[in-house]
Amino acid sequence: MNADLVLVHLYPDLLRTYGDRGNVLALVRRAEWRGFRVEVAPVSRGERVPPGAGIVLLGGGTDRDQEILGEDLVGRREELDAAATGGAVVVGICGGYQLLGRRYVAADGSAIDGLGLLDVVTEAAAGRMVGNVHARAWLDGRDFDLVGFENHGGRTRLGPAARPLASVPRGQGNNGLDGTEGAVQGAVLGTYLHGPVLPANPDFADALLARALARRLGGEPLAPLGDRLEHEALARARRRGR
Ligand code: GLN
Repeated sequence: MNADLVLVHLYPDLLRTYGDRGNVLALVRRAEWRGFRVEVAPVSRGERVPPGAGIVLLGGGTDRDQEILGEDLVGRREELDAAATGGAVVVGICGGYQLLGRRYVAADGSAIDGLGLLDVVTEAAAGRMVGNVHARAWLDGRDFDLVGFENHGGRTRLGPAARPLASVPRGQGNNGLDGTEGAVQGAVLGTYLHGPVLPANPDFADALLARALARRLGGEPLAPLGDRLEHEALARARRRGR
């Protein structure tokens, strides 16, 4: 198949908490509904990221999963940097977000080197941050609601090269202190939101797709979809978050 979009699902066997695979499905469906051909490439330890990736997606995982990934992950710095430079959007959810950063210091005190694609550092602290989140995101000149569920012990701090993806009127977000959630640095994005986040947040899913399909779209916007169910889910999650 000559795909319009190659979606790389990184470590689907390990980083897959809270239905994060739903993010892959949401992206595939939303692209296919618009007539694009999508190829999903699962990539696990010891496997290479195929050339021409449009999106690279990492889900969430436990501290233990993050430790297991260790060296394999760090060995991908150049590969993923090249993918991002070549036009791929790289997105990490929770544990995956932490691993896109410089370092994650786990609950047992061990430091796990991250990819350093996001200028963020995460340290676990006592008291997990758990609950429904209602965030307000801004990306590529648009702002939109972002709803989801967070469950993390890590507190993430952004360095100067990264900017927050969203503010959190409701929820803890990056660290429970500065009112921010997630991070964006060029083509690389991270968020703490599970849910999975993309089926319930069509604007976010489309922002990622618009970036990944930019060449195919040639300056045209993505065709609108009905999104009745998606907006119902979003409204329901917003109510739950109150
Ligand atoms: N291990 C990380 C933390 O607890 C990530 C958890 C997750 O991905 N849900 O902070």
